Amino acid sequence: MFSAISINKDEAGQSVEVTQIDESQLPEGNVTIDVDYSTLNYKDGLAITGSSPVVRKFPMVPGIDLAGVVSESSHANWKAGDRVVLNGWGVGEGHWGGLSQKARLNGDWLVALPEAFTSRQAMAIGTAGYTAALCVDTLMAHGVRADQGEILVTGATGGVGSFAVALLAKAGFTVVAATGKESEADYLKSLGASDIILRSELSEKGKPLQKERWAGVVDSVGSFTLVNACAQTQYGGVVAACGLAQGPDFPATVMPFILRGVSLLGVDSVMAPIELRQAAWKRLAKYLDPAQLDTIADEISLSEAIPAAKDLLEGKIRGRLIVDVNK
Ligand code: NDP
Repeated sequence: MFSAISINKDEAGQSVEVTQIDESQLPEGNVTIDVDYSTLNYKDGLAITGSSPVVRKFPMVPGIDLAGVVSESSHANWKAGDRVVLNGWGVGEGHWGGLSQKARLNGDWLVALPEAFTSRQAMAIGTAGYTAALCVDTLMAHGVRADQGEILVTGATGGVGSFAVALLAKAGFTVVAATGKESEADYLKSLGASDIILRSELSEKGKPLQKERWAGVVDSVGSFTLVNACAQTQYGGVVAACGLAQGPDFPATVMPFILRGVSLLGVDSVMAPIELRQAAWKRLAKYLDPAQLDTIADEISLSEAIPAAKDLLEGKIRGRLIVDVNK
């Protein structure tokens, strides 16, 4: 038997509890994992509170991220004792996830945990950090170089934004962080931002083409912010879009794309191919200071994750939440 958060649904509605599950009930999969840590992402908050139909079948064990040790494997790439990390692939939505002491899943979904990190540190990074790394890789794969000018990061104090600022600065880029939290300027500078601009400078409707400033952009905000970021991107510059914190709309014109050759590239972490995942985790291992990660996130237990999900959706949590599934 092992402990897990279980989400159930019946005529009376959705219920969530920490429960004991027999190992024989684990879903299909060729790798079984003893989970060390998971984390609470926005999507996990939606799943646990039931405030959005994220969960596609019941009962469901939520948790889109996990880090742990392989206990059994019939997959060619993995053997007992291997340390692994998992992000996305619909885990915690359509397949039982990481908020559990055990997980069984498809070995094709796993990435070897970089030597640089403990399981706890990998979960301080979680999908937010991994997505930020995918965005940085996207900019660089499309030719953005440090000598071309400033890189804009929007939603900078958020999970994705914070890791994007840190990774870009460590890679030698000059980073401008856009934030709604003026009071967090010192935090953003400590991560490596050279300059801070206010979120309000980007969040309202603007001209289709504006003064060229950014060589590249990492945007986790969408809506007018993304539109204005494209309108301010230099000739030939690249914009990586991964989020919708302001909104999913994109009320833009084609002008930056057809007159300045700006490229707008989408970044998805959930179904990203394994090669991109491996490259992203390699970047995280190379550029992040593992010691810093221990202070970025607060640690909670499995049962504390249930009330924390509501707080997370209400914006009451600062930084990241790591879940010790064995507590
Ligand atoms: P967070 O909630 O940690 O951060 C979002 C940040 O966006 C906030 O901290 C805030 O930063 C800014 N923000 C919030 N509301 C607004 C608003 N109304 N207008 C402008 N800016 C706002 O979320 P994450 O960093 O974890 O995720 C960011 C986005 O990326 C989300 O939309 C998420 O769904 C998406 N995402 C997408 C993934 C993918 O695979 N494509 C994977 C992971 C996340 P500040 O105060 O500094 O401005």
